[in-house]
Parts: sequence; C-alpha cells; structure tokens
Amino acid sequence: MEFNGSVTQIPLVGPRYQKLLEKLEIKTVGDLLYHFPFRYNDFSRITTISNLISGEAATIRGELTSIKNIYTRAGRNFVQGVLKDDDGEVLLVWFNQPFLTRNLHSGDKLTVSGNLGTFGGKPAVVSPEYELSPEIGATIHVGRLVPVYSETAGISSKWFRSRIHALTSTSLDTAETLPKQVIVTERFPLLTNALRQIHFPKNQEEAVLARNRFAFEELFNLSLKSLVRRAKWQQEQIAKGLVVDQVLVDQFTSNLPFKLTAAQNRVTHEILDDLQMTSPMNRLLEGDVGSGKTVVAAIAAYVTTLNGQNVLYMAPTEILAKQHLETFTSLFSKYDIDIELVLGGRKKESKKQEARSKILIGTHALLYRDDFNGVGLIVIDEQHRFGVEQRAELLRKCQGGATPHLLTMTATPIPRSLQLVLMGDLDLSVLDEMPVGRKTVKTWLIPKNKREDAYNWLKELKTQTFVVCPFIEESETETLQAVKAAKKEFEILQKELTPLKLGLLHGKLKPAEKDIVVQNFRNGKLDVLVSTPVVEVGVDIPNASVMIIEGAERFGLASLHQLRGRVGRAGQEAYCLLFSSDENSNKTRLKALETNFNGADLAEIDLKFRGSGDIFGTMQHGLPVFKVADPSNLELINKARKWAEDVVTNLEEYPEMKSRVEEINNELITPN
Ligand code: ADP
Ligand code: MG
Repeated sequence: MEFNGSVTQIPLVGPRYQKLLEKLEIKTVGDLLYHFPFRYNDFSRITTISNLISGEAATIRGELTSIKNIYTRAGRNFVQGVLKDDDGEVLLVWFNQPFLTRNLHSGDKLTVSGNLGTFGGKPAVVSPEYELSPEIGATIHVGRLVPVYSETAGISSKWFRSRIHALTSTSLDTAETLPKQVIVTERFPLLTNALRQIHFPKNQEEAVLARNRFAFEELFNLSLKSLVRRAKWQQEQIAKGLVVDQVLVDQFTSNLPFKLTAAQNRVTHEILDDLQMTSPMNRLLEGDVGSGKTVVAAIAAYVTTLNGQNVLYMAPTEILAKQHLETFTSLFSKYDIDIELVLGGRKKESKKQEARSKILIGTHALLYRDDFNGVGLIVIDEQHRFGVEQRAELLRKCQGGATPHLLTMTATPIPRSLQLVLMGDLDLSVLDEMPVGRKTVKTWLIPKNKREDAYNWLKELKTQTFVVCPFIEESETETLQAVKAAKKEFEILQKELTPLKLGLLHGKLKPAEKDIVVQNFRNGKLDVLVSTPVVEVGVDIPNASVMIIEGAERFGLASLHQLRGRVGRAGQEAYCLLFSSDENSNKTRLKALETNFNGADLAEIDLKFRGSGDIFGTMQHGLPVFKVADPSNLELINKARKWAEDVVTNLEEYPEMKSRVEEINNELITPN
C-alpha cells in the first residue's frame, strides 16, 4: 500500500467513504494515518463483573446469555442483554440501536467497556462499547485506551479505529520523515512506531511521547519550508541594489509636518539598508494602527523613484487606496514624481505626466496591468487581506527584469512562536512606538442593561462615532447576511440616536456610494458611521472619537485593538465601547482590552484563550494552522526551528532530507 496513494487502496474504502473523507481533507493513506485522535477513552481497567464499581469506566468479558429488542408503549426502543462471567452477571442496555440484535446473539463471547450505572432499579452497564473479540488484549474499541476521533462528515470513531488499526497492524512501509540525527538526539519514536502509538497507545505516556514527536514534526516541516524558501529567495532572485542619497532622504523627512518617532527612524534604516542590496528585500513592517507605517513606506518609495524605478503600492480596498493617494500627493507635492491611482483596471487621476518615475497606488487592480517594467519596490499594505496567490501573482508579473524589493505591512502583531516557525523567510521590522501625543482609547465592556445609558452619553458627547457590526461569517468578501445585519443595526440606531445623523457603509454598496458616505463622514455631515466588520476598517477620520463594536466576543483581541485605533487620531480623548451579543460568554478575554493597550500583548493573550486558528484567520490567508503542535510550547518550537536551520545550512549531512528540500524548492518561488 502506498503511503501517498489514494485511500481507495484500503480495503472497505470505496468511493462513498472517499468522498466523506475528502471533507476532512483526507485523500491519501498517509492523510488517514495522520488523522490523530483528539482524546482517548480510558477503558484499560479490566475486571470481573462482581468487581465493577459504580460510575467507574471498566472492561469486562463474558458470555451473552440473552439479548432482545424491547419496544415501550411510548414507542421507544432499547436493546437489553445479560452478560455472564465466572462470578456474576450484569444487565447491558443500549438505546435506539435495534439493529444490534442482528450482530449480537445469545452465546456470543463479548468484551464490554463502559460505566456501571442502573436501569429500571437494577445495576446495568448502559450504552457500553462492545467487541466480539477472540481474546482480551486484541481489542480495538474496548479494553484499552480507545482513540476518539473527530466525527464530522458522517464517519464514526469506530470506523476510523477499525480502518486505522488494520493499517497500523500490518507492517507499515512508510519512509521516516525526520532526519536520523533528530530521532537519535531527541529520542523520538520512529515514524512507524509513533503512528501505532498515537492511535493505539499501550498507556498514556506512550501517547504523549508519540504526540510530541508529531508536534515536533509539524513545526520542523513548517520551519524547513520557510527557511528553504528564504535561502532560495536570497540565492536566486536578483534585485537592483538602489542608491540611497542620505542628504535627500534627510531633506524629505525634515519637510514632513511631524518629527519621525525613534521607531520610525529605526525601521526606515532597516528598510533602506535592504534596498541597497542586490538580493531583494522581503520585509514585513509590523506596527499598531496609527503607528505611522505609511510615511515609512513613502520614504522607501521616494528612494526608489530617485533611482529611476517605479513603485507599486497595493491596498486592500478602494477607499484605502484613495486615502493613500491623498497622503502621497500631499507628501510629494513639492517633488517631481508621477502618482497614479489604479482601480478596477482603469487608469485614473494621473498627476504630473512628464515625470519619469511613477508611484502606482491601487487595489488588486494593479495585478491586471501589463506594464511591470522597472518596478523597483512593491508595497503591500494590510498584507493579511491579500491571498498568498495574489502576492505571488504580483511578483510573477515582475519577473521580466530584476526582482522588485518587497515591503509588506500589517497592524496585526504576530506572536513570537508563530513568527519563528512560519515566517522564517521574512525579515521583520516592528514599529513599537506611537507618535507623541496620542492618548490611549478608554475602553469598556458595556453590560446589556447599560446600553441605553451609553446611547444617551453618546448623544450628549456630540462627537463622531463608528459602529462596527458583528462578524457573521468569516469571509474575505462580505456576505449578504453581514450586510443585512448592518442594515438592521442602522435602522435601530436611527431611532435610538435621533437627532444624530447616521450613515451606512458596507461592501455591497457601489464604489461611488461608498465614496459619498465616507466623504460625508469625513467632512462632518454625518455623526455616526455604521459599518460591517470587513469593510474599510482602514479609513482615516481624524475627528472620530468613539468606536462602538457590536458582538465583540466574535472578534480577536488584535482585531478589536485595531478597530479602536481608528479613533482619537487627532490627539483628542477617545473611547471604545464593546457590546457582547452573548451575555454568558467569558468576559475575561474582552476585559483585557480595558487595561491592555499593546497589540502584541493582546495577541499573546488571545493565543492563550482561543488558540492559533483565530490568529491566522485575521493574520494571513493561506497560512497553515497548527494541527498537532501547541503554539504556546516555545521550547519545542525553538528546537524545531534550530534543527531546520541546521538541515538547511548543512544539507550534505542530511542526505535523507535532500529530496524534501528539493521538493520545497520546486514549489512557489515567492515568499509569504
Ligand atoms: P498606520 O501605521 O496605521 O498605517 P498611518 O501611517 O496611517 O498609520 O499614520 C496614522 C497617522 O499618524 C497619520 O495621520 C500620520 O500622518 C500620522 N503620523 C505618522 N507618523 C507620525 C509622527 N511621527 N508624528 C505624528 N504623527 C504621525
Ligand atoms: Mg495603514
């Protein structure tokens, strides 16, 4: 049987199960073997019927002396049997499984696992697991640590157990996935043993050791991938090393309406150092909302144009792209640089036609242009809003000449653990300082009975307010359902908040309609902007002072922190009111926002509360979620990363890894 071959090679797996398994992303024999149990039922205590203890899980073995289907007058069904061993007998009861009497017959030798309880006043084992088994010790579903699998897609744990047991009890012909040195040094079980042990462990310790191996393997593979990609990126891609004229750069920064923060100066240096190299920059600029990433990118863009090269600046939404156009137009008003807006494939609002170098600012419409010559720098703002494929496409289009330098930007802090494993191919610059004069946004989680008070306070406050409606569905483009929710909220608030003037913004509006709403909000004709969560969160409205978030429990803390960063931008007092639509939900997580104002810390807190899945959801599309590994196990993460580094730098010492590294090399040329 081939490890990488289709599941249909497995006996009893036909097209029907193939389809069901596909829903769990199990396509190959290997995938099935890597579908690990999420827990075990401990049925390893084997005893006699007379020694059963009420409420304690145990396994007994005996002869079925009777079995029958019983239908009550109320129309309910149960199967009742009696199991007898050398020193006693006990009642067995199963509900709503009338077919059992077809499989089980009086006289059968049966092994039974379950808890002793009562039925109709008599001691009974209710709904036990059972197995018609030749002997104790050879059982799969009873009498041991029994693996329990996630049962989505209509496949039972029992089915998984049977198929996987059959696979692991034949001699598995699977190549080891970890290097020999790793196995020996770290004392990990070999793959074939670990597979057996994670599914059918002899005891808890064995299960823990096997799982630890697979957690390591997962982290090691991810690290290896990112490190190989990085090496390839550095070796094979040739960029144009740019000349940095420090005098002109200093002139530019001294002409800014503000003084750069120390952090902005530091990351600017990091970026300008990269731009001078002939291996292309691949740098992520991470900084809280409002930390001033745009101006840093503008300096990099300026240097690029000074070298006669063009810049592509990609933003996730039209509103953001237009906002950047405004910012850039004003930053470069005294310079001879051509700035163009690219939306929906059309070319618009061209300025200063005669200039040589261009800064093209736009949405993903930038991807559909055909003149990618002379692009020296690509900036991707809010990079997590773009798919990996979109970024790859942009770079592929630029393959004609030198590879452009790449600067990606995000306000979502990435926890250290995930960074180490997933982003080994990226250099990181962090803006960990806010421009002076910014106040923290006072934040409260508002209980249901204080909603009315909050609205009254808002009416008195007479300031501009955002209202963000809850996440309905995780989706890149907005669902109709989300739009509906926002419309409803808008109607409710129009009554609640009279005489305030409200506007509604969602993704299903036409671009021109969106523009009008945003314009009206910006110039103060609207007091309150009600919007869906995915839409235009980057809009810069300096006078807005209040951020109201509905269904706050559905957002990640980092997202909430980013949302509140939209208010108080002109240095005024600002407030964030969180409403939870689920009064019973855990308040501790959301309460963290009342006292913590550091995006990175909040991301770590979220990681503890919600695991890595949510972070990826908001962080970056297309990145894998840890399946086995615990994202808070920094020790194992560091270990995996170190080994992967050693493999990449000393590949000749790991001959068994050569083909894997080769494989990764042949994948996408682009970094994350
Ligand atoms: P983000 O990092 O969220 O993209 P922006 O680049 O949009 O933040 O900057 C937010 C606001 O802060 C802008 O209005 C910008 O002009 C202003 N800003 C940026 N740097 C500074 C600074 N050093 N001092 C004062 N204001 C600044
Ligand atoms: Mg920004």
